[in-house]
Amino acid sequence: MKQIDYSSSARFLLTRQKEDWDMCRDGYKSLDTIKIKEFHIDGFHLKVQFNPGRIISTSAKVDPKSIAERKCFLCYENLPPKQEKLEYPDGFLILVNPFPIFPEHFTIPQIEHKPQRIQGNVNVMADLAKDLGKYYTIFYNGPKCGASAPDHMHFQAGTKGYMPYDYEYTMIKKDYGESVYMTGDVAVYGLNDGFRRIISVESKKAESLEKAFGHFYGVYEEFHPGEEEPMMNVLMNFDYVENKYTLSVFLRAKHRPARYFAEDDTKIMLSPASVDVGGVNIIPVEDHFNKMDREILEEIYSEVFMSESDFKKLIIRLKETA
Ligand SMILES: [Zn+2]
Repeated sequence: MKQIDYSSSARFLLTRQKEDWDMCRDGYKSLDTIKIKEFHIDGFHLKVQFNPGRIISTSAKVDPKSIAERKCFLCYENLPPKQEKLEYPDGFLILVNPFPIFPEHFTIPQIEHKPQRIQGNVNVMADLAKDLGKYYTIFYNGPKCGASAPDHMHFQAGTKGYMPYDYEYTMIKKDYGESVYMTGDVAVYGLNDGFRRIISVESKKAESLEKAFGHFYGVYEEFHPGEEEPMMNVLMNFDYVENKYTLSVFLRAKHRPARYFAEDDTKIMLSPASVDVGGVNIIPVEDHFNKMDREILEEIYSEVFMSESDFKKLIIRLKETA
């Protein structure tokens, strides 16, 4: 643990920015108008949130041409003048996200403009999980899995316990999980709850966590040949009671579902990223929110997640190579 209490510093930062920065204040005020629907599925639940403030992020164009033509909004020189920067070791900044999903929502970009990649940054994610873990969950969206700046490396942090997955993980593991392998200080599990295919890694040591993730990454890459990064969303938590990190990788097959691109009344603006697959599905259009039911959600999840048959193969490969 670093000497500075980053959890409290981040919380103070948000309080201050809501006072000094109108865009930030308005963004958090807009959370008062969100609507939520909940779907109770066996042993876990998924929510749908109508959040009009997220239209820019949900509809972000992330193709290489659009990215090349815009100014990078995570680069230091392009940050809004009122945005305060909390420096974090390892070359990152903690910034308040003025377009929140969570009651407290931060963006954590690397200072250097480098592409969005998880490899080589798991140690930073673990540090963040420990340093911010008192109040926040850390997450990562792959460049083709919801990151609205795929060209600029960043993590995010949001209120711990806001995503159902945060507190349902243990139950999901018990009801839908299997042990993939265990070594002295790492346990790896495969979770398939019918909606999501997930690999989780638990360890008390950050180095062991990173090493196990590296092994997983190498195997998972075989299922995504030719991609800049195999498709994934990652959530990380640190448990202070057990002194343990838990990293969950949501295994993806597709960035956006067919309904996202539909031009008729089947259209649903849902572009799944970490927060969505963590159980809070963001829809910025009210009609689409009203239309959403469990069957549509199930259809979208089966489309954007790795198939059950590939998931079985992945687990076999992980066991073989452990
Ligand atoms: Zn940048």
